[in-house]
Amino acid sequence: MPIESVAVLGGGLAGASAALRLARAGIGVDLFERQSGPHHKVCGEFLSVEAQRDLRDMAFEPLRLGAVPIDRVRIVSGRKSAESRLPFTALGVSREVLDEALLDAAAAAGARVLRGTRVTAIEDGGLRTSAGRFPAKTLFLATGKHDLRGMNRPDGGERSRHIAFKMHWKIPARQDEELGHAVELVLFDGGYLGLQRVAERVMNLCVLVRRERFGGSWTDLLAELMREDHVARRLDGALEMLDRPASIAGLPYGYLHHPADDRPGLFRLGDQAGLTAPLTGDGMAIALRSAALAVDCLRAGRSSASYSGLLRREIAGQVRKAMLLHQLAALPVLPIAMGLLRFWPPLLGRLAAATRLA
Ligand SMILES: Cc1cc2nc3c(=O)[nH]c(=O)nc-3n(C[C@H](O)[C@H](O)[C@H](O)COP(=O)(O)OP(=O)(O)OC[C@H]3O[C@@H](n4cnc5c(N)ncnc54)[C@H](O)[C@@H]3O)c2cc1C
Repeated sequence: MPIESVAVLGGGLAGASAALRLARAGIGVDLFERQSGPHHKVCGEFLSVEAQRDLRDMAFEPLRLGAVPIDRVRIVSGRKSAESRLPFTALGVSREVLDEALLDAAAAAGARVLRGTRVTAIEDGGLRTSAGRFPAKTLFLATGKHDLRGMNRPDGGERSRHIAFKMHWKIPARQDEELGHAVELVLFDGGYLGLQRVAERVMNLCVLVRRERFGGSWTDLLAELMREDHVARRLDGALEMLDRPASIAGLPYGYLHHPADDRPGLFRLGDQAGLTAPLTGDGMAIALRSAALAVDCLRAGRSSASYSGLLRREIAGQVRKAMLLHQLAALPVLPIAMGLLRFWPPLLGRLAAATRLA
């Protein structure tokens, strides 16, 4: 039986790549994205090798977007640091650029992309949006970090304890050179942050901090972070590039959608299907993988519950390992772990490899 058109809710990596795949398969697709133009997202912007594979599978080359190869990992805690080669080459890429390019590709392939259109509710036989009601039988729910009213993800145990911020910085040439092709992870009391280049002389800083350590404003938080020698060094002479940081709070890290909670005809994609801890930088890979699998399942006539079961099996291991590391980073075992990493730096690369999406 031919597939009737699909409504895709959300135009992040999961929604845009699903729309691109559907349109290329000749399936009618309407994509609803609440933002009217390019926008920043809270993200470390570390594009893993698995995510790159899925993008290239769609003949989409992230290197053409000015992405920076990342092949080293440096971990810093206080005055101690350890460094190792990564067993793969990741990329540093701006989400503002990447998500927009994927949406453009979906539109060019024939998807109808409705920008500035917020979905407000899922109703029997369709959607309610800020632009009116749309009939739809098959829905791809890809609203990412944001839950749609009535479709909330249950608490993964971490909700409301962390706040995350992202800021792009114009950095001086000497910092650009020092940071080079490394992703830096700075662990501090109450959270961790990632630093890496996402374009020439552009550094992304993405920080996850426990609510009680957040001073109440971005300026206060920055002042607190600057007490870390490494952060102070990296931000010396750097200029904020965004009017204000992108921020998000209260996410249910560790959430994995269960097929038993499925609603027929509704496929959950990306963060709506599984929310991994940010530390391992694999959320984008999960988003892209879920989109590919959902389209394959739909075309093969499989139900949304069957898709959810397959996806859960693929991503559950990664999510659990990432959550374990995320929790370890907050424990007092940190000095021992740092000692071990300094003694045997290749362990860092092994950890990075072990927490990849299979
Ligand atoms: C602090 C932090 C750091 C991270 N770092 C990394 C990293 O370095 N590497 C990595 O791979 N992953 C990282 N992630 C995870 C990654 O950002 C997400 O997993 C990924 O963005 C999920 O993609 P998505 O398409 O599901 O959702 P999103 O990218 O959030 O996209 C959802 C889209 O839906 C739209 N939308 C929302 N609600 C509505 C609505 N009601 N109607 C219409 N549109 C709507 C939004 O505007 C948005 O464009 C990080 C996450 C966090 C929180």
